[in-house]
Amino acid sequence: MKIIAVGRNYIDHAKELNNPVPSTPVIFMKPDTALLKDNKDFYYPEFSKDVHYEVELVIRVCNEGKHVSPKFAHKYYDAIGLGIDFTARDIQAQHKEKGLPWELAKAFDHSAVMSPLIPKEEFSDFKNIAFSMQKNAEVVQSGNSGDMIFDFETLIVFISKYITLRKGDLIYTGTPVGVGPIAIGDKFEGFIGERPMFNCAIK
Ligand code: ZN
Repeated sequence: MKIIAVGRNYIDHAKELNNPVPSTPVIFMKPDTALLKDNKDFYYPEFSKDVHYEVELVIRVCNEGKHVSPKFAHKYYDAIGLGIDFTARDIQAQHKEKGLPWELAKAFDHSAVMSPLIPKEEFSDFKNIAFSMQKNAEVVQSGNSGDMIFDFETLIVFISKYITLRKGDLIYTGTPVGVGPIAIGDKFEGFIGERPMFNCAIK
């Protein structure tokens, strides 16, 4: 499986990092070795001094798809979960400045926290999915799928023009405003609506 992630998919977050609001999705990838599941601890990596959290809705791909048409895009994901896209902001800033790829800032081991998945049928409106994350029991980010610049189906159509989607792939759909640094000792807890989705302690 592969992890495809979307940058700058919420206007307020693009603004907080002084990025322009994109006219097409900003896409990057993480390898399967980035996954961190089952509420496992995250160990602060020695190569960064400024790892940030980004909580994101994640959709699971359920069919192989290339050049998926908008009409059928809804058939290509079957479940929704919540994850954290851990980002080494210091490395990303250096690489952005030089116009270099972001992989070392985004694709490192355990940089993709992932919750269990909720079947799509349990949601009544894909354009109104509220989610949030607490850091040490205080809400630091809250978002709603309705505020995404590119919705789930638009992302599937766009990505599949370039990259074949396969069953089991995960798409991290971007983070809302409120990203910030993590520190050893922090505890993160993610929610879809009121439903607890994951815990992650920083060690
Ligand atoms: Zn992200």
